[in-house]
Amino acid sequence: MSSGIPVRLSGKDLYAHMLAILERLVGIDTTSHRSNLELIHYVQDLLSGNGITSHLHWNEEHTKANLVATAGPAADGDRGIVWSGHTDVVPVEGQAWSADPFALRVTDTVAIGRGTADMKGFIACCLAILTQVEHERLTTPLTLMLTYEEEIGCVGARRLVEEMRTWEGKVKGCIVGEPTGLRVVVGHKGKQNHRLTFDGEPKHAALAPLMPNPIAAAAAVIGRATALNETFRTTGPHDERFDISHSWINIGRIEGGVKPNIVPQHCSVEYEVRSVPGHDCDSIASELTRLATGEVQEDMRAKSGLAEVRAERLSDTPSFSIDPAHEFVAFVQKAFGAADEPQFVPFGTEAGLIWGHGRIPAVVCGPGFITEAHVADEFVSLDQLQQCLDHLRSLPLG
Ligand SMILES: [Zn+2]
Repeated sequence: MSSGIPVRLSGKDLYAHMLAILERLVGIDTTSHRSNLELIHYVQDLLSGNGITSHLHWNEEHTKANLVATAGPAADGDRGIVWSGHTDVVPVEGQAWSADPFALRVTDTVAIGRGTADMKGFIACCLAILTQVEHERLTTPLTLMLTYEEEIGCVGARRLVEEMRTWEGKVKGCIVGEPTGLRVVVGHKGKQNHRLTFDGEPKHAALAPLMPNPIAAAAAVIGRATALNETFRTTGPHDERFDISHSWINIGRIEGGVKPNIVPQHCSVEYEVRSVPGHDCDSIASELTRLATGEVQEDMRAKSGLAEVRAERLSDTPSFSIDPAHEFVAFVQKAFGAADEPQFVPFGTEAGLIWGHGRIPAVVCGPGFITEAHVADEFVSLDQLQQCLDHLRSLPLG
């Protein structure tokens, strides 16, 4: 009979250690557009203090890095159980914080600061354990995986996919610690952001019948999106595990034109696709791309050789779905003493990449609630942090 993870500190001291780490993590501003290296180096130092070596995977500009570190009996490149978190946080600009977002405030019941719920609270719990784990008593390795730029479309995690695939057979599974109130989550929708840009020539409106109209061209594509949405709503595909059981295209932003007496030169449309598992965001977006850069562009070019339509994908968070009866899901449910059925959530995470692309069985489970994330005075309850520590420690790896 295996016991939990062997750590040197007692419960109370481990909790205090975790809060001290959380204070440091929150104190480093890792908004997605900034470098995360100060945080990564802090983590690297913490782990090396307990004899754990970190490997960094850099972005092209060498301004950000993912970190992978394994503790325990890592013979043959074994990774065991992976704990995964993103290091970046969303911006605080335009939000009414009641104090410095990057200075942790701890009350009797909550810890307040940017990233406490999403997801530095989870990372602090992982680090508290890893910095105190007794390697020689671990029977299964423990791996920490930290990424950059999750909030702008899983950019860092995508760079780890190749490496994750080499772990196949050497990894039991991955816990992605996004805030789920510590319930075990087995699925979410996929999400992509796209931009279409329509360009023509600015002319006097008297000549309008002879000229391509970028706004009208954009409207044609929006019309198709509306028709597609209606098909998704009526004929699916439907996945009844979600409150909104079908995919959807949200036209989120449109911009173009100057005034009624000028033929517009330009129009751009930004939209988001949210798709149920098995209904590929790419296939939905490609319908709109094909229409815009095919038929619509041809019509525009028939009137002006300068006309051009461009399509860009701005971000991509794949959907996530693992069989609730999967061995790893059952393992986590049992270790965490989860009474509820595995859940489905409306927000995206890196789990879709980790399981769908990296082939590592995954669940999403972390302290705090999504409603407490991304807002002014973001917080996580101390109770959730304590429970998270207890849950992680209860994994039968000792
Ligand atoms: Zn997150």
